Amino acid sequence: MKTGKMKNLVVLSGAGMSAESGIRTFRDMGGLWEEYDVTEVASLQAWEKDRDLVLRFYNERRKQLLLCKPNKGHYGLAELEKYFKVTIITQNVDDLHERAGSSEVFHLHGELKKARSTVDENLIYDIDGWELKKGDKCERGLQLRPHVVWFGEAVPTIEKASEICRTADIFVVIGTSLNVYPAAGLINYVPQNIPIFLIDPNEVNTPSRDVKFIKEKAGVGVEKLIDILKRVK
Ligand code: NAD
Repeated sequence: MKTGKMKNLVVLSGAGMSAESGIRTFRDMGGLWEEYDVTEVASLQAWEKDRDLVLRFYNERRKQLLLCKPNKGHYGLAELEKYFKVTIITQNVDDLHERAGSSEVFHLHGELKKARSTVDENLIYDIDGWELKKGDKCERGLQLRPHVVWFGEAVPTIEKASEICRTADIFVVIGTSLNVYPAAGLINYVPQNIPIFLIDPNEVNTPSRDVKFIKEKAGVGVEKLIDILKRVK
């Protein structure tokens, strides 16, 4: 199956990718993520207003993540590294792609298991266990915050991500409603002649591009994708 240089397969994944691992998406639940109104806990305003609430929200997400496992979809993408140079751009803050064995994972919206300084965004730390507490400080002596991109904040890695999309030979979108920008705009950087597969159990609006729609959940959808890709190789 492998001949010469491997093709670049670029994946853009969203919350639906991890749904079968037990992490709920929030769009599907009318703007709520678990019992929280996400816009009220995932913003700088929320952090300034009520740090305890924001820390608690992410601590709970982190606690839950430690109990979750990658699903068949995550493992399928890791398996594709046998045949392609796979780069995953994910909007998810969980680490399930990494735990499934994917080696190139690029987090657009940060990582739940990391904290960063509130004065220097380059000071990033692994969180040991599930808890980030008030009083946990960076080496410059200031409070640490979750290493996630909040609503209203810029996505610092978006340019690098758009470059990755430009290099795609095959592009795959999984489990994202393509509602959150700038991530949703990444599809526009994929060269025109490149096939785009979209895996989602629900219709997703992609006005700018034709896509090959695999109307399935991530687990079965990735299985079907692998079958298709094996046939075209
Ligand atoms: P979204 O909630 O807007 O959309 C989820 C998409 O996944 C929908 O199109 C839905 O039809 C689809 N979906 C539902 N179940 C699925 C399944 N089993 N398999 C495949 N697809 C399925 O998610 P989004 O577009 O990623 O945007 C939401 C934002 O929320 C992102 O910025 C993300 O960072 C954040 N978020 C992250 C996580 C996580 O890290 N796991 C979870 C929830 C939200």
